[in-house]
Amino acid sequence: MVIGIIGAGASGMAAALAAAENEDAQVVLMERQARVGRKLSATGNGRCNLTNLHAMAGGYHGDDAAFAAPALKAFDVEKTLDWFRGLGLFTVAEESGRVYPYSDQANSVVDVLRFALDRPNIRLLTDFEVMKVKKTDDGFRVDSSDDSVLCDKLIVACGGLAGTKLGGTMAGYKLLRGFGHKCTKLRPTLVQLKSDWSGCASLKGVRANCRAAIVHDGAVQIESTGELQFTDYGLSGPVMFEISRDVCQGKGSWCCRLDFLPEINEDTLKEELLRRRGGNLTAGDLLTGILHNRLGRVLTQSVGISSYVPIAQLEEEEIAGVCAAVKGFEVNLTEPMGMDSAQVTAGGIVTDEFDENTMESRLVPGLYACGEVLDIDGDCGGYNLQWAWSSGRMAGAHAGGIL
Ligand SMILES: Cc1cc2nc3c(=O)[nH]c(=O)nc-3n(C[C@H](O)[C@H](O)[C@H](O)COP(=O)(O)OP(=O)(O)OC[C@H]3O[C@@H](n4cnc5c(N)ncnc54)[C@H](O)[C@@H]3O)c2cc1C
Repeated sequence: MVIGIIGAGASGMAAALAAAENEDAQVVLMERQARVGRKLSATGNGRCNLTNLHAMAGGYHGDDAAFAAPALKAFDVEKTLDWFRGLGLFTVAEESGRVYPYSDQANSVVDVLRFALDRPNIRLLTDFEVMKVKKTDDGFRVDSSDDSVLCDKLIVACGGLAGTKLGGTMAGYKLLRGFGHKCTKLRPTLVQLKSDWSGCASLKGVRANCRAAIVHDGAVQIESTGELQFTDYGLSGPVMFEISRDVCQGKGSWCCRLDFLPEINEDTLKEELLRRRGGNLTAGDLLTGILHNRLGRVLTQSVGISSYVPIAQLEEEEIAGVCAAVKGFEVNLTEPMGMDSAQVTAGGIVTDEFDENTMESRLVPGLYACGEVLDIDGDCGGYNLQWAWSSGRMAGAHAGGIL
């Protein structure tokens, strides 16, 4: 039996290794780029956050997010870590639950997978861009521009559109649509957010730990705590990635409410700032020692206080205004950055056309899909790669007949 797999990214490699456990199966892994796992090697800022100790079905989204549960249960975090350990990868978990290779290098993850693929019943074809797929009487015919592969079962593991420069593409959606599958609207997620507030550009490069909330027409949609980074176009940093899903997707006003001192209440801050009226400093230094200097000045100015006014002359109300800005500053949002910048695609191939216990198409027997091409996306922090490993493993195991 020949199992063709399109895409040697995270889910495709997991699928190939699972299918190849059936020693009578011949696996042909086709990758359009010159090497396997190109996107994987750029994940987690080059560190690869390969899973999360808290990854469970609740951290996933899609029109039918429950679709992800059986795969995540069958190949859960513990099994995934055992599997990687078996491949020779040492890992370490941060307090947050995020798991990284011990080497702190994403390439270590790619390497252990790459070495594992080197087995007699896996044929790896790189620089093989699949252009066309056809159902034949007894399987599938997969064509690149100058070669063809015939296979009995076919797994589409082409990933999503996000991270275009690293290989994100429409290919998987197109190939599956060719078999009659439907695709939902695609949106960038785990992505930076654009703002038309000019302060972002003047704060470019400033990082701050904060509590950030997405507010739509006055109502908080989602919030999280972590590091924010100002950029010339808007807001970036891990906390933004975490709360960026579906921002600016509907009409109305969108903003990000930032609490720059989440662990200190407004009264304590006010007390401290009122105390500073006893010194000789000017308002430009009102928040010095508390926040990044540039951020402190911008926040003070945002409530109409000139940096040159002596702190001693500030009214209590003005100090209260600064405290309110520190604890709940609103930055208007216009749109998310595009697919180029996004880590993940929200939306994808409609999952109710697949069997959640096998990843096999309900429309075309013998056809499977896994990973980001499906309408499942996970929270920030290793959830998306866990979905790639779990769904890839499930597709490969069932196509290969080891389950
Ligand atoms: C910058 C960045 C950082 C990220 N960091 C993290 C992180 O730390 N933790 C986390 O959990 N997730 C992270 N993600 C998300 C994660 O990388 C993806 O969700 C995951 O790689 C999806 O796996 P996949 O197998 O579905 O797709 P991919 O890993 O993208 O693999 C798809 C493969 O298919 C190939 N392909 C596509 N079309 C064809 C074709 N026609 N013919 C042949 N081959 C084809 C592609 O070249 C690619 O190699 C990050 C993403 C980005 C862009």
